[in-house]
Amino acid sequence: MIYFDNVSKTYPDGTVAVDGVTFAIEENEFVSLVGHSGAGKTTLMRLLLGEEQPTSGTVSFDSVDIQKVKKRDLPKFRQRVGVIFQDFRLIPQKTVYENVAFAMEVAGKTEEEISADVPHVLELVDLTNKMWNFPRQLSGGELQRVAIARAIVNHPDLILADEPTGNLDPVNTYEIIQILKKINDLGTTVILTTHNKGVVEALGKRVITMDHGKVIRDDPTGKYAL
Ligand code: ADP
Repeated sequence: MIYFDNVSKTYPDGTVAVDGVTFAIEENEFVSLVGHSGAGKTTLMRLLLGEEQPTSGTVSFDSVDIQKVKKRDLPKFRQRVGVIFQDFRLIPQKTVYENVAFAMEVAGKTEEEISADVPHVLELVDLTNKMWNFPRQLSGGELQRVAIARAIVNHPDLILADEPTGNLDPVNTYEIIQILKKINDLGTTVILTTHNKGVVEALGKRVITMDHGKVIRDDPTGKYAL
């Protein structure tokens, strides 16, 4: 379970990005986090990854207080979380296969594990036929599917998808959301930030709405109320 307990974050320049936020996310939930630009969504994600420390309150993940994770243990902790970004962040000089394999190498997996798991995960995102292509040879939707494969290949407990469909057309957006739903159905918690009203309503899952650092709505049935 993820638990934000009365969390506030003021940046050193005095900007209050998160202001007294409390909510829990259960294992295997699919939660959309919505709100205007500057509402504090990215800051919540960075707190969850231990990239920022709260000014007050606690953020915990399966009862581990993230603030208390030692610096040298943070990389190991972050392996429990797969992150997906709007701008994909693939390595241009590596093939699709190598991009996904690299995430396993960094996590200390063996050659055998890598050669067994990479094709499997690429099949899950329907990219078997692009395995030996480079990122520049792929469409936006395909690039995001590589990024998803990379995010899930080490079997994280949680996927954080930060505006993953922000650069995609409606058809590719639909595909990416279907893949995230499939990953959730296979047992992974998903937190999705999005501005896309259609996505949130099509999902029909829980929606947390933020405004000026506060949670202003927490709706179990997927209404987009901005
Ligand atoms: P969102 O992801 O919803 O757009 P953010 O969490 O990025 O919101 O930002 C929340 C507020 O915090 C904004 O006012 C933003 O300008 C500010 N902010 C974000 N990062 C920093 C930072 N490193 N230093 C100072 N202010 C920041």
